[in-house]
Amino acid sequence: MTQLKNLMVSVSGIRGIVGDGLTPEAALQLAQAYGSEFGPGKIVLARDSRVTGPMLKHAVIAGLMAVGCDVVDLDLAATPTAELITERPEHAGGIIITASHNPKEWNALKLLAPDGLFLRPDQGQKVIDRVYKSNFSFVPWNRIGRYYTYNDAAGEHVSRILELPIIDAERIRGKKFKVVVDCCNGAGEAVLPKLFEAFGCSVTWLNREANGLFPRNPEPVPENLTELSEAVRRSRADFGLAVDPDVDRLALVDEKGIPLGEEYTLVLAVRFVLSKTPGDVVVNASTTRAIDDVAAPYGRVHRTPVGEIHVAVKAQQIGAVMAGEGNGGVMYPELHIGRDAPMGIALILQYLAESGKRLSELKAEVPHYVMIKDKIELGFGVDAKAVVERLKEQLANENLNTIDGLKVIYQDSWVHIRASNTEPIIRIIAEAPTQEKTVELIEHYKAAVVQLTN
Ligand code: MG
Repeated sequence: MTQLKNLMVSVSGIRGIVGDGLTPEAALQLAQAYGSEFGPGKIVLARDSRVTGPMLKHAVIAGLMAVGCDVVDLDLAATPTAELITERPEHAGGIIITASHNPKEWNALKLLAPDGLFLRPDQGQKVIDRVYKSNFSFVPWNRIGRYYTYNDAAGEHVSRILELPIIDAERIRGKKFKVVVDCCNGAGEAVLPKLFEAFGCSVTWLNREANGLFPRNPEPVPENLTELSEAVRRSRADFGLAVDPDVDRLALVDEKGIPLGEEYTLVLAVRFVLSKTPGDVVVNASTTRAIDDVAAPYGRVHRTPVGEIHVAVKAQQIGAVMAGEGNGGVMYPELHIGRDAPMGIALILQYLAESGKRLSELKAEVPHYVMIKDKIELGFGVDAKAVVERLKEQLANENLNTIDGLKVIYQDSWVHIRASNTEPIIRIIAEAPTQEKTVELIEHYKAAVVQLTN
């Protein structure tokens, strides 16, 4: 990770505030580097609803065409849709212009590999090296790439979901579900109306306009979902849901208007899928242990470092039946190995239809844990990674998992401490059966970290 003036450059792409770091030049150079590395061939291009998306898109198109890549422009599209289209054998790669759940002034370029997964770190490093060395394979005028548009990417995504054996659209349609959907004015508009139409749901839309003017903090965590909860209660809907601006994270609100917590999207999806297809699950180290509880009768749970690509690579390696991240990121590898909110919605609808239960009842059937995510801001010049290492030495006698920072595992609780890759902070996440116990864990380990930095 390098930080040029307010521009974060990492093996997964670039990210910054437009007008203050993220410029068309930066996007252009990254596109030239990416196209030189993965081209020539057809590169899929998508954007979320951000105001700055079209501006950056044109820089990316110019960069790709200049190094001989053809561009297949999906324009406004969900990240999982772009991943699915990139995966097709005729496509050489994909670029998504989105800063996911970051505020509206941010944007980013996310780089996909030819198989539709995000770039592995070694692949990303090659692209970044090309940027720093200006190592671009420019082609002469008569070999520059061509520009195509593709307007049915979302239709293809929805069709692929409907074709899955686990999904019985007829059965879901029979239930005539009433749903409230909050798109936060993100890219949900591109795919969710088609999805709910296919399932015969009657939808009350909130913040549906894909204009990039997010009316609230776009991260789909309970404290940001008050409007959704009220709308669910008012309209007496079967449930409510929110997606983040690029539609890879899904959060649910039950029929009483109570948010389940984003961890429980994956818990319910895993429980449903494994009950039909026993097998192994892959999640990151910070995902709720309720996953272990619901998966126990059916298969093993593998834990990876935090970051979608780590989960995806492991899921691919072991042939996982389910995978994902506790932040509402559901991966159903039978469709593709990427976090996919439309896929998550389909699984939840199928679960409700088959079980005949309310969402609150399904939630009540799984073990309940309280998770708290906190952070410790370190002073300038403090080496966060070294602090975590020292803590690791102190705790050598505990049950530790050191796959990503430091995770201390107790009988029915855990705490995960790791240095942020992007900011001078230490993230600390704890989970226990009660709020009191979780707070206790957080306070205890925060004090231990603070003592080490003094
Ligand atoms: Mg996202």
